Amino acid sequence: MSDYILDVTDVDKNFGGLRALSDINLRVKKGTVHAIIGPNGAGKSTLLNVIVGRLAPNRGRVLLGDEVLTGKQPYEINQLGVARVFQTPEIFPELSLLQNVMVPALAKRDGEFNLSFLKSLFSERDILDQAEHMLEDVGLIEHKDHLAGSMSRGDKRRLELAMCLSQQPKLFLLDEPTAGMSRHDTNRTIDLLKRIKARGMTKVIIEHDMHVVFSLADRISVLAQGAIIAEGTPEEVRNDPKVKEAYLGG
Ligand code: ADP
Ligand code: MG
Repeated sequence: MSDYILDVTDVDKNFGGLRALSDINLRVKKGTVHAIIGPNGAGKSTLLNVIVGRLAPNRGRVLLGDEVLTGKQPYEINQLGVARVFQTPEIFPELSLLQNVMVPALAKRDGEFNLSFLKSLFSERDILDQAEHMLEDVGLIEHKDHLAGSMSRGDKRRLELAMCLSQQPKLFLLDEPTAGMSRHDTNRTIDLLKRIKARGMTKVIIEHDMHVVFSLADRISVLAQGAIIAEGTPEEVRNDPKVKEAYLGG
């Protein structure tokens, strides 16, 4: 068993004639936060989509621990312990915040998914307790009975974080978790991410906001035009001339 929870080897991804990912190699150590930065269109979201099984690579392989993810369906990869927040929040607008957070925990249970089964589960004490704890964690507990669809964009994103955390994933992938948030919401989210970092959950985070990346990441990979052009600690990456040229603009 290696120290690496995620191992991406020699991955290419083409969209027609466009090479969106070229010879990507990325290894992420257990319990660390690994950031992927790079300009718009660099291929960051494509890489995450390959990891979670939404896109099949044209070449290469993705491992979670010793398990091969390549070729598996997104729901299978999720069941193996990979959770992800998307650039656009994916929540259930017609359910309350509390019910939203309960859904991933319920989905792990066996049973026929009819309405009365769901209702009986929504009143299960242990799942309720855990869901309330998660909402407290992300600062949304006072809104637990509100409909998710009625919340602000920043609140929806924090709700989605809580939904992922309630799965207790081995690997948590975040695609620009503070995009579109006010400075205040961004700071709250960074605080939350720092707290879950302290719990040792492995995370891969895509981020534009340098402030977020440098305060959270153990290591950073820099993607430009589909290729990784630099990798290292925040300090190493900050001082890399290639990175300054490609990303920081000078
Ligand atoms: P980033 O997340 O770094 O901004 P993306 O991974 O979204 O970049 O996109 C990388 C490149 O691949 C871009 O040129 C984008 O236009 C292209 N691309 C992304 N998804 C698709 C798709 N489904 N079909 C065709 N081209 C795509
Ligand atoms: Mg993107």
